[in-house]
Amino acid sequence: MTQDTTQATKTAIVTGGGSGIGLAIVEKFIQENIKTIVIGRDEQKLASAREAFGELCVTISHDLSDLSGIPALVEQISREHGRIDILVNNAGINLKKNFEEVTDEEFQRILLTNVTAVFALSREVVKTMLPLGAGAIVNISSMASQYGLPKVIAYTASKSAIEGMTRAMATELSPNGIRVNCVAPGFIATAMSATALNNDPERKNKVMGRTPMGKLGTPADVADAVYFLSSEGAKYVTGTVLPVDGGNSIGF
Ligand code: NDP
Repeated sequence: MTQDTTQATKTAIVTGGGSGIGLAIVEKFIQENIKTIVIGRDEQKLASAREAFGELCVTISHDLSDLSGIPALVEQISREHGRIDILVNNAGINLKKNFEEVTDEEFQRILLTNVTAVFALSREVVKTMLPLGAGAIVNISSMASQYGLPKVIAYTASKSAIEGMTRAMATELSPNGIRVNCVAPGFIATAMSATALNNDPERKNKVMGRTPMGKLGTPADVADAVYFLSSEGAKYVTGTVLPVDGGNSIGF
C-alpha cells in the first residue's frame, strides 16, 4: 500500500510498530493518511513495514530501553518531520516466570521498557506538543492490569503503572490541549499468542470460556480503538482506559 505524503494529515509516532498490534496500528494510521514514524529494534521488521506502507511510513531503529538516546531521537524526529500530533506507546515486553524465581534485574528490565521508556519518550514528545497546545497520546496496557494473572508479575506491575500514568498525565496535560488515553487489550491473536493458545487447547478453552464474545481479538480491533482515541472523534475523551477484550473485563 503506497500513499502520497503530500496528503498526510498528521504525524504520529508508533513504538513497536514493526510487528503484531503495533503493525496494525501503523496500517490503520496510514489508511487514514497519517504520516507514521515507526520505532523498533529489528531492522528486518522495519524494512518490511516500509515496503508494505510506502512513503507515509518512516522507520527509525532505536532501542527504547536506552533512555539516554530518547531526547536526541525526538529532536531528530521533530527536525525531520515537523510537529508530532500523536504518540502511541505500544512497544512492550513480557516475562513468564514463577513469582519467586523472578530476579531484581529481570523485574527492572520489564519496568525499564514498559514504563520508564514510555515516561521518557512521552516527556520529550510532550515538550514538542506544549507550544502547539495540542496532541494525543495513547498508551497500551493490558487486561493483565485488571486481573491477577499468574506468572507475569513484572508485566502486570508495568501495565498497572501505565494506566496510573495515563490518568496522571491526562489531568496535568488537559489544560494544554493534550489528551492522554490508554487501550487495554485482552487476548489478541498475534503470531505469538495464537501459536501459544493453539498449542494448548485446554488453556484456549479456558480463555474462550471467560470471554463473552467467545473469540480472540485481532490486532486490527486494537488499532481501531487506538485510532479513535487519537482522533478528533475523541476530542472530549482523556484519562480513560478502554478495554478491547471481547467483554473479558466484565468479569462474568
Ligand atoms: P510484539 O512482540 O509483536 O510487539 C512488541 C513490539 O515492541 C515489537 O515490535 C518490538 O520491536 C517492540 N519493542 C520491544 N522492546 C523494545 C525496545 N526496547 N525498543 C523498541 N521497541 C521495542 O507484541 P504485541 O504486538 O502482542 O504487543 C504490543 C503491545 O500490546 C505490548 O505493549 C503488549 O504488552 C500489549 N498487549 C498485547 C496483548 C496480546 O494479546 N498480544 C494483550 C495485551 C497487551 P522489535 O521486535 O523491533 O524489538
